[in-house]
Amino acid sequence: MEICILASGSKGNCIYLSGGGTSLLIDAGLSAKETLRRMDVAGIDKETVKSILLTHDHGDHCKGIRILSTKLDAELYANAGTATSLESQDPKLQRGFTLFDDCGSFEINDLRIEPFQVPHDASDTVGFILNDGICKVCIVTDIGQPTTLVKAKMQDCNMIVVESNHDYDMLMESQRPWSLKQRIAGRSGHLSNEDAAELVTETISSKLKHIFLAHLSEDCNTPHLASSTMRMALKTIRFSDIPVEVASQHKVSNLIRF
Ligand SMILES: [Zn+2]
Ligand SMILES: [Zn+2]
Repeated sequence: MEICILASGSKGNCIYLSGGGTSLLIDAGLSAKETLRRMDVAGIDKETVKSILLTHDHGDHCKGIRILSTKLDAELYANAGTATSLESQDPKLQRGFTLFDDCGSFEINDLRIEPFQVPHDASDTVGFILNDGICKVCIVTDIGQPTTLVKAKMQDCNMIVVESNHDYDMLMESQRPWSLKQRIAGRSGHLSNEDAAELVTETISSKLKHIFLAHLSEDCNTPHLASSTMRMALKTIRFSDIPVEVASQHKVSNLIRF
């Protein structure tokens, strides 16, 4: 399996993953032009990417879907809540989605995909487990709180991409309006560094080989704070040898191979 984070944060999200004879993108929150440019930078063969999975209908996850899916000739996958919302915003997307069920699983070639619900203030947000029979990856960003379901899904994963959105003190000290601070820190908002560290340490196993911290706030967090909070938590439970990589808004990540 291969994974590369092309962009992560409130200005656009997109993850490339290849495994089980399938290459796909998760979310398309950059412009199509910028997504294609970043795929070139990462050395991704664009011809092979024929599917785009959507987590939810916020613009930082969906902005590029119509043009990108046309340029790549890729099928769009979403649950009914997300598809209905996006179709109402852009009539040209009507009947353009392959629908999946939040509680089920489906396969594209030999890649098994398990969506699962997460609490977030969009129409119907999901995280994904992707499994090619060798490697199991959990992708969970835009999540207000770590529910029992999220914790269950994260068990036994080889790699996780987990939101580490903000440092709570930086958020509270920021110039943002109180209502926005409450929304971000609330049960349908975004995970703090401390929340992410707690979630990972509660669900970790010896199978975990790589952690990506994702969807960092540019104003209320720093890559150093996010990674040091996670590393400190891992050290406490004697898992300090697991690589922790912070995904960037502006640069493609390393291409991780399993
Ligand atoms: Zn987002
Ligand atoms: Zn969102």
